[in-house]
Amino acid sequence: MHVAEVLIVGAGPSGLVLALCLTKLGVKFRIVEKNSGPGQASRAIAVQARVLEFYRQLGFADDVVNGGLKMERLHLRNGSREIAALRFGDFGESLSAFPFVLSYPQDVHEKLLIEKLRANGVEVEWNTELAGFVDDGERVRVTLRSKGVEEVSEVAFLCGCDGAHSRVRQGLNLKFSGGTYEQRFFVADVEETGAPVKGDINICLGPDAFCLVFPIRNVNQDRLIGIVPKELADRENIAFDDVRSDVEKLAGVHVHKVNWFSTYNIHHRVAGHFRVGRVFIAGDAGHVHSPVGGQGMNTGIGDAVNMAWKLAAVLQRRADASILDTYETERVAFAHSLVATTDRAFQAIVGRGLSSSMFRLVVFPILLPLALKFSRGRKAQFRLISQIRINYRESVLSEGMAGEVQGGDRLPWAGGAGSDNFEPFNSMDWQVHVYGEASQGLRDSAARREIPLHVFPWNAVAQEAGLAKNAAYLVRPDGHVALADSKQDANVLERFLERFKIKARVLTLSSNR
Ligand SMILES: Cc1cc2nc3c(=O)[nH]c(=O)nc-3n(C[C@H](O)[C@H](O)[C@H](O)COP(=O)(O)OP(=O)(O)OC[C@H]3O[C@@H](n4cnc5c(N)ncnc54)[C@H](O)[C@@H]3O)c2cc1C
Repeated sequence: MHVAEVLIVGAGPSGLVLALCLTKLGVKFRIVEKNSGPGQASRAIAVQARVLEFYRQLGFADDVVNGGLKMERLHLRNGSREIAALRFGDFGESLSAFPFVLSYPQDVHEKLLIEKLRANGVEVEWNTELAGFVDDGERVRVTLRSKGVEEVSEVAFLCGCDGAHSRVRQGLNLKFSGGTYEQRFFVADVEETGAPVKGDINICLGPDAFCLVFPIRNVNQDRLIGIVPKELADRENIAFDDVRSDVEKLAGVHVHKVNWFSTYNIHHRVAGHFRVGRVFIAGDAGHVHSPVGGQGMNTGIGDAVNMAWKLAAVLQRRADASILDTYETERVAFAHSLVATTDRAFQAIVGRGLSSSMFRLVVFPILLPLALKFSRGRKAQFRLISQIRINYRESVLSEGMAGEVQGGDRLPWAGGAGSDNFEPFNSMDWQVHVYGEASQGLRDSAARREIPLHVFPWNAVAQEAGLAKNAAYLVRPDGHVALADSKQDANVLERFLERFKIKARVLTLSSNR
């Protein structure tokens, strides 16, 4: 077996995407999972555009899009009466090559990620649990337990992608501050007949109850989510039949098969740190929040991508080790804002408890204005939901401004007019973009530093995207702008690269095989 430089604990979406990125970047690693195989529950179903953009970099976005269902509309209903309808469709047109929200159940999603890893010669080590670890400052000594047998080995970095009850987070004695909502929820994946509009999202409201109906897998299968009635909330074993009659009445469906039923409490918590020395945490290990907006899994995947290229760069001596500090500063800030936003949305919708006054207190003053705002500002809503708006402007790795683009922003997508500026991101490497003409000084500087320079035509699409003509954008491996320089000053670029000792990958590096 090869000598691993990184140990990934947990083969959920965060760990699997971290593994895929490290594979692409030529880092040797192991990925261990205490379960015997991939997750069987559909759990997270919304895959956001920003994640599809990352998957495009990894080469399999189309597989996910073709396997999923685009969510076209959202209906707000009172019994069978429609109160409002929001059209999603391609509501992010011109903002992303993936201008929609995709439904793609987590179990299918994880299986695909595992297949992609396997195609690269990487196997998840199932039935293998992290039992403990010690970071001595130089290496991390890890103890793994598989079928009762313990193994001790050493890695340069340990990444805890081990979910909300993270052993890694606990081993670091990190606080997981926040709380738990008092309501208990149920989730059911069912086959049914009669859902008001097949393939669309429905929020069905009653005087003292609500039920969300989402399409999954195919248009004959739906996800139902609701609140467990108070009188059942303390019971240990609740089955779908306990809520069946209420749900069927409220959602106007007849359920003939239940594929999965579970009840759960929702927490809102963020870990005190995302990194201590050589040990990192990502995904649910670092942040959990209400599923409002379908952001949880997507955020974990974003953590994984952010961490992966920094680990690869430091291990391959292509960047100063200080860039590892920016993983926490960049991702913890987003986790805090996400927990706060989803908390506000959650409190607005269910936090006051459900009662016969729900329509007076929630639907008319909150949901209806939200629906109205949505139709007026579809693009702004897409930016928010899709995660393309996430920026690292406060990061030490971010500098300058050109056009409407600041250092730290995701480089705006300027595609669809015969050229696509995200195409070169497939290298998952540093690169310089110019829209218009590149000066000889910039060309020389990029060549000297062996950073690929991509020159795109200046056109209406680039202008509309907020880019500036003839500016230089130094773009990170994750598609975020590090340096935006309207003057194309080669010295500014060189100083920036030198400050963080940044080098591009240039050579094709050996893989995990
Ligand atoms: C009922 C339900 C519904 C949800 N719905 C949504 C939704 O609609 N939208 C959304 O975005 N999110 C949703 N989520 C949340 C989403 O599922 C999580 O955000 C996502 O799974 C997080 O991925 P992760 O890889 O960080 O952690 P996980 O998926 O929890 O994976 C962690 C993995 O680590 C393994 N592990 C733990 N400890 C160890 C150890 N010591 N050694 C080895 N392996 C270990 C675990 O077995 C697990 O496989 C839902 C969650 C639940 C429970």
